[in-house]
Amino acid sequence: MRVTEGGVELEVPGEQTDGIEEAVFYNPRQELNRDLTIATLRAYREREERATSYLDAMTASGVRGVRAAADGWDVTCCDVDEQAVDLARENLERNDCEARVEHRNVNAVMHDEPFDVIDLDPYGTPMPFADAAFANCRDLVCVTATDTAPLCGAHFNSGVRSYSAVPRNTDYHAEMGVRVLISALARSAARFDVGVEPILTHATSHYVRTYLELEHKATSADAAIDELGHLYHCEDCLYREADPGLIADPLETCPHCGGNRMLIAGPVWLGPVQDSAFIAAVRDEIPYTFNTAPQARELCDTVAAELDEPTHYDQHKLCRNWGLPANAMDDFLADLRDAGYEASRAHYGGTTFKTDANVGEIRAATEDSLE
Ligand SMILES: [Zn+2]
Repeated sequence: MRVTEGGVELEVPGEQTDGIEEAVFYNPRQELNRDLTIATLRAYREREERATSYLDAMTASGVRGVRAAADGWDVTCCDVDEQAVDLARENLERNDCEARVEHRNVNAVMHDEPFDVIDLDPYGTPMPFADAAFANCRDLVCVTATDTAPLCGAHFNSGVRSYSAVPRNTDYHAEMGVRVLISALARSAARFDVGVEPILTHATSHYVRTYLELEHKATSADAAIDELGHLYHCEDCLYREADPGLIADPLETCPHCGGNRMLIAGPVWLGPVQDSAFIAAVRDEIPYTFNTAPQARELCDTVAAELDEPTHYDQHKLCRNWGLPANAMDDFLADLRDAGYEASRAHYGGTTFKTDANVGEIRAATEDSLE
């Protein structure tokens, strides 16, 4: 079957499932991810002019590699699956794009030669590829993780195994996944004296995507480790607290409601997960010809305006907890700002927001409007 996205045309084998033809080696649900990748690569080339080589580490149909090559990158596509490698070659040829295609274990490819940009887009956890990527990438590591249940603590043991961290299932589960993932990646990079700075991160329909700019300096690795810490979360009133540092000093009872149903998660990444000025540049690189342009631009706007707070709230969940009706989000956030707090929407859902107010302060600032 034929697929067109971002100006390139791909032929991918189809398979009949429940009478619907589905593409093998091509995930249409990741088109937003790929459109943002291309826009990010364009913006990144302006930021770091020496960046020219791009490794599509799990190329499958070759779609990312073809799109990056069409954009002028010096592309290497890699896959362990022979059928995928053949397909990637055909799709490159179909679009008159030149790229090297490797039928090898990508960890071996990464250890053999350095790349400016490495893109890890595996099925499931990216951690088996993280060490080789950080040891051999010069500038930017792009990572997709699709194992959101382990990342957010819903599949607890699997999350602990993959990420060497304790994830907890909270009302901000997608962001728990973001912060567990970046924590594990930062610790992996630090082993090679590499510091990471997340310049764009989003959690969208069952995957987390983050773009980490690298600095090859031990002091930068130390600075990244300094962004790690723990989250203490009250299951009763949804109070949460961030505690910087690798040594936890957990709260036994909730300082807000006095309850003892406290969850402890960590080490998680507590630092910023985006660079707003860079995201504005990414947004400018999304042309209307991209199929997901409206969603991708809206996502950039929301993410760029998000406060640098390590967790978000869901207004509906708070109001349900308080036994009060929810009001319009804009009015709710205006009440918080009028009371002197910072407040922004968050990209995790239509009723999610970030603020520097704690759960008691949020209620005091907004409840008069919720009667
Ligand atoms: Zn509490």
